[in-house]
Amino acid sequence: MNHKGLLIVISGFSGAGKGTLMKKLLEDYEQYALSISMTTRAPREGEVDGREYFFSTREQFEDKIKQGGFIEHAQYCGNYYGTPKDYVEKQLEAGKDVILEIEIQGAMKVKEQFPDAILLFVMPPSIAVLHQRLVGRGTETEEVINQRLQRAEEEAVGIEGYDYIIINDDLDTCVKELHELLTKTHEAIQTQYNPVNYEKLIENIRTELTSLVKGEK
Ligand code: ADP
Ligand code: 5GP
Repeated sequence: MNHKGLLIVISGFSGAGKGTLMKKLLEDYEQYALSISMTTRAPREGEVDGREYFFSTREQFEDKIKQGGFIEHAQYCGNYYGTPKDYVEKQLEAGKDVILEIEIQGAMKVKEQFPDAILLFVMPPSIAVLHQRLVGRGTETEEVINQRLQRAEEEAVGIEGYDYIIINDDLDTCVKELHELLTKTHEAIQTQYNPVNYEKLIENIRTELTSLVKGEK
């Protein structure tokens, strides 16, 4: 049986509710490990270094790129964001399901490196609601909100590259749906249908086929 955890990627437009959704998912269910990214963006009010992000300078970030310390990294609205390698590898080995809450370029890089990763895109119920949430959060200037909406327009082109779409209308419903979807996917991939769980069967089939071809009984 394969005990390695699943790699789950969550993306979505800024303001769709990814952060809120992740916080509730982790509060409600124990089996998930959320990767904490490194970023050069300034902390928002209430954000704590090492909890929401590892906040760094551009120099520190670029050093870590050179050291090969990231699974992926990307630029988003003028800042670097990246997924540190160590934590993800350790948690997957320990059998945890690791969640990366990252933007679309990073998501595609992860898919190349980990073809088994599950890619989910969180959608707002409407663009009007997205706009309200982004403004209502009160953490960005109007200029930055506009940059993020422009970025959303670009990201919308890549949504088909994801495996699943989940709509974040009512938060509690969305968290439940997300957990159910991940549980089902986990079962399908890791127990029922994955060849790694049929080692003995495959070995026997090979031996029997060889015997048959050789004309042995
Ligand atoms: P993201 O991480 O995708 O940029 P946030 O999690 O910061 O988005 O959410 C943006 C704003 O929308 C926050 O103020 C948050 O409280 C609010 N929000 C998130 N999900 C919901 C929801 N299901 N219903 C109402 N408000 C929500
Ligand atoms: P925010 O500034 O709102 O926290 O994040 C901006 C965007 O960066 C979001 O789309 C978020 O998912 C993405 N992001 C956060 N961490 C990472 C990361 O490690 N890698 C990549 N590629 N994107 C990230």
